[in-house]
Amino acid sequence: MLDLPFDPLKRAKEVEGLVMEGLARKYYRFRPAKYYGGIATADIVGCPFLCAYCWNYKRNLHPEMSRDKYYSSDEVANRLLNIIKRKGLNKVRLSGAEPILGEKSFEHLCQVLKNIYKSNPMLDFILETNGLLLGYEQEFVQRLSHFSNLQVRISLKGFDNESFENISGAERNLFHLPMKGLQNLIGNGMNAWPAIMYETFGPEGIGKINQKLKEYEIRPEELEIEYLEPYPFVLENLKKHSISLHT
Ligand code: SF4
Repeated sequence: MLDLPFDPLKRAKEVEGLVMEGLARKYYRFRPAKYYGGIATADIVGCPFLCAYCWNYKRNLHPEMSRDKYYSSDEVANRLLNIIKRKGLNKVRLSGAEPILGEKSFEHLCQVLKNIYKSNPMLDFILETNGLLLGYEQEFVQRLSHFSNLQVRISLKGFDNESFENISGAERNLFHLPMKGLQNLIGNGMNAWPAIMYETFGPEGIGKINQKLKEYEIRPEELEIEYLEPYPFVLENLKKHSISLHT
């Protein structure tokens, strides 16, 4: 069991130790997905958060128990490029967990990006992240800014300290790090934007997050609203965390 709330920076290190073997990372699936108008997707294992609405909750709670395989950056890029070719797509992403947990996973990500762009510099790579480490390690942002077609989508978990902790399970005093990550990316000239889950924010939460974005000099118009996939286990989990949903 994981006691809530937890220190997500400490957890990021621990999880990285469980999902990285050298510079190879655990993945559990490679697939074409319908999102963004069609995108080649590699599903990774391991996240420093444990969001109440995560559709990959069990795997992220116990990354050590998953029997998924480790893949080198070459293997990951080749699999994604094969999907692109077979399905006639032009977008790529990593999903299912958090791509950046620390130095090793970051290096793995950079190698995947290099391999993908070496083969096709025009592909859109959408980096889906919770932004925690991008707010903590300025150097990661600088290194990412060298990839010109990279787009970064930061999924914000709350509109204030309390809602951040309730949703992510992470200690509330770190609410600012994903916002800072977003600010760092935009400040480095990158194409980056925030996303939120409508049902956990509601109109009041959206008003509050818009205000926060302004404080960080991020344009609220960039906010992407996503909607909950109401899987039965997700609804049950939200209930267990006493999180009520806006409809
Ligand atoms: S940040 Fe994303 S992958 Fe991580 S627990 Fe939350 S929803 Fe799941």
